[in-house]
Amino acid sequence: MKIGVLALQGAVREHVQAIQACGAEAVVVKKAADLSELDGLVLPGGESTAMRRLIDRADLLEPLRQFADNGKPMFGTCAGLVLLAKEIEGQDMAHLGVMDITVARNSFGRQVDSFEADLDIAGIDEPFPAVFIRAPHIVSAGDDVEVLCEYGGRIVLAKSGPFLGCSFHPELTGDHRLMQLFLNMVENGALLPTGAAYSKI
Ligand code: GLN
Repeated sequence: MKIGVLALQGAVREHVQAIQACGAEAVVVKKAADLSELDGLVLPGGESTAMRRLIDRADLLEPLRQFADNGKPMFGTCAGLVLLAKEIEGQDMAHLGVMDITVARNSFGRQVDSFEADLDIAGIDEPFPAVFIRAPHIVSAGDDVEVLCEYGGRIVLAKSGPFLGCSFHPELTGDHRLMQLFLNMVENGALLPTGAAYSKI
């Protein structure tokens, strides 16, 4: 299984390590040609407006939308979640706009307010350690979106068909269960019920 990590900006190396730790091949994606032959793609955290500028500069917006249109799974973390969202509060335009959610950016304060929290995630037994850094949250979600975790009354993890998105950085703690969930989605076909995606975690 080949999983790409969009590598224009942000937390790329940690995702590469997480993918490899789960036994899949990681591919660094900087241009459209790098997307061919991938089975899934991770959109890392970082800064979504900066990332969008780099996506445009690399002529990657349409190829990324096409990747999603082809039903290939995508996992957006933090800024990556903002890239996936159909709507961004206070902004006229979305980026990829493929996941039926509205997000608010920087919902948990500034960089200095970064924190770690143990999350109860639907279908995962033990709490998951999550790092929140200028994190967005999901304000509202369409009918087909499964909410997998809320924190402080806010949606911070959701799945919709081939798209998985979280507010936090799952790659910074060495706990790879969320990456494994994504790889299960990729392996089994993204449209399987979420319960089945938990099989190996
Ligand atoms: N606040 C950033 C944004 O909106 C995301 C922060 C992060 O990815 N850690 O793009």
